[in-house]
Amino acid sequence: MARRPLVAGNWKMNGLSASIAELDKIIVGAGALAQRSANVDVMVCPPATLIANFAVAARGSNVAIGGQDCHALSAGAFTGDIAAEMLRDAGAQAVIVGHSERRQYHGETDAAVRAKAQAAHRAGLLAIVCVGETRAERDGGRAREVVGAQLDGSLPENAAATLVAYEPIWAIGTGLTPHPSDVADMHGFIRTRLGARFGEAGETVRILYGGSVKASNAKELMATANVDGALVGGASLVAGEFLAIAGVYR
Ligand code: PEP
Repeated sequence: MARRPLVAGNWKMNGLSASIAELDKIIVGAGALAQRSANVDVMVCPPATLIANFAVAARGSNVAIGGQDCHALSAGAFTGDIAAEMLRDAGAQAVIVGHSERRQYHGETDAAVRAKAQAAHRAGLLAIVCVGETRAERDGGRAREVVGAQLDGSLPENAAATLVAYEPIWAIGTGLTPHPSDVADMHGFIRTRLGARFGEAGETVRILYGGSVKASNAKELMATANVDGALVGGASLVAGEFLAIAGVYR
């Protein structure tokens, strides 16, 4: 089953209106990759304040715009929160849910993440559902158990509009990455779990790897079995570095 890879940039809480200059470079670079028939989708997930402007700038280009989080409900008295419908209205095509920083700093449970993923689907967005173990869980031999439970609890019903991002927490922003054989092992495990849950549709779900992906390690990580692209944090803030990661699919 051929799955078209996705390289998505998670800008986290970084970027001001002037950062559109970096997006413009990404748009030009992604266009050049497309012209060379590169087999890759490119997405940028800026902070919510930039989504509308970025979506206008990216219209008609090869770059999709996504959000970093959404509320489970479509409207209501939830000060500071943003509904999936609002992201969609601003021009987003996808939203990341259950990032480990949301789980850690905002106490998001698997059930809450699942509700957000369902909200994304209700609004017509792709849901990028993040899972991943801590260093202690990996060292304790519990990585599969933890990720399996996160998948069971966080994934919504609709496989077709869902992506999984496997992001070992200890690899995020640390410069550390798992050995490719450990990535292959976990992505294979996730693929099997998706098959058990969704049947044949589980084969179509893209599984991204995230955690300290850079231009220098992207080739090896992206060539790993069942790795269908990357969710990139720090390295996505610099157009050249981000494009070099997407460029491994040239
Ligand atoms: C992330 O937070 O989604 C991430 C992968 O970050 P980084 O690439 O900076 O490790």
